[in-house]
Amino acid sequence: MQTISELGDLRGKRVLVRSDLNVPLEQDDAGGSTITDDGRIRASVPTIRALSEAGARVVVCAHLGRPKGAPEDKYSLAPVATRLGELLGQDVTFATDTVGDSAHAAVEAAQDGDVVLLENLRFNAGETAKTDEERAEFAAQLAGLADVFVSDGFGVVHRKQASVYDVARLLPSAVGGLVETEVGVLKRLTEDPERPYAVVLGGAKVSDKLGVIDNLLQTADRLLIGGGMVFTFLAAKDYEVGSSLLEADQVDQVKGYLAQAEERGVEIVLPVDIVAATAFSADADHEVVPAGAIPADGMGLDIGPESGVLFAKKLEDCRTVFWNGPMGAFEMAPYAAGTAAVAKALVEVTEKGALTVIGGGDSAAAVRQLGFEDDQFGHISTGGGASLEYLEGKQLPGLTVLDEPRA
Ligand code: ADP
Ligand code: MG
Repeated sequence: MQTISELGDLRGKRVLVRSDLNVPLEQDDAGGSTITDDGRIRASVPTIRALSEAGARVVVCAHLGRPKGAPEDKYSLAPVATRLGELLGQDVTFATDTVGDSAHAAVEAAQDGDVVLLENLRFNAGETAKTDEERAEFAAQLAGLADVFVSDGFGVVHRKQASVYDVARLLPSAVGGLVETEVGVLKRLTEDPERPYAVVLGGAKVSDKLGVIDNLLQTADRLLIGGGMVFTFLAAKDYEVGSSLLEADQVDQVKGYLAQAEERGVEIVLPVDIVAATAFSADADHEVVPAGAIPADGMGLDIGPESGVLFAKKLEDCRTVFWNGPMGAFEMAPYAAGTAAVAKALVEVTEKGALTVIGGGDSAAAVRQLGFEDDQFGHISTGGGASLEYLEGKQLPGLTVLDEPRA
């Protein structure tokens, strides 16, 4: 995989950079929108700045949200262009289309060191098209705007999309600094991690995340399970889970994981108590119950206080910890304590020199919302899905394409 420095002298060159600028936006009444967490823009700045300082004409492309292949105002990257400019400390020219007249005009007008941001890639059906032909056609239009390509959107490297995969086959390409850093951290988790190595899993995307467990049972020493995922585990132990999040069709799979863990000597740590509420609401009645005694009409929305203590204890002596997925519905104050307990335990073990990695958009948002600073952890990843797929041992198209031999 080629790095930016191997692309040669970039002065005057048009460099297309794929960044991950997919930030959460809140629409206001006046029709505008505010960025509620600019973490991904901040993480993208160093690569963009380095290219600009090298004298390149930097053409940044990115997506926002999930528009359906056509322009939609609420998914415009315009507010992101403004914020990117503030963080870079230089003007960012915003093109109102991705590969059309506005984009071409902006790129042609760019001087050495200038930065252009193209409008949302996903306003074009070709970006995420299923057929290779459609994607390749859009990728060719993107490639027409640049001389070289830099892949720096870690949150999308697991996607076979035009701006991630296909364009890299058309231009001399290099990996950006952010992707390099992220992959470096993942390597430390997978290639001979310092032990004990614990993985904390939670969150709501249960079936998405179960797949990684197979692989983790071969690398981790301990697996701590909380969040929405835990109820499929409790159900596998034949516990009542009431109206909690449950993937009934995955229960057998989870039973298999429990047996496999036992065989391999991997410790699976489940909560001993649960905060059970009458509804998915901050105002709902809620109580702490033993994990084996969730009432039939109860909904588990956080791990309980005893579990928080237990999880902290299980993390205390670890030398490596990967955490993906909040322990509860942390957005609502009554269900945030479990996530806070794990965050605090991670901070403490980081201070003792352990490598701690947080992956997942909501997990990162949770620790920030709870008042923790990014630098209290070893690394906060910008890509939850990409991290999990890497840990699952899958090939990530956005990375493998950079290793393809080229003409
Ligand atoms: P990440 O983005 O970190 O990968 P996910 O997207 O999988 O995490 O899940 C985050 C969401 O999971 C949060 O919005 C949180 O409210 C929700 N969640 C956590 N625990 C529960 C639970 N017990 N029941 C319902 N939702 C939960
Ligand atoms: Mg999420």
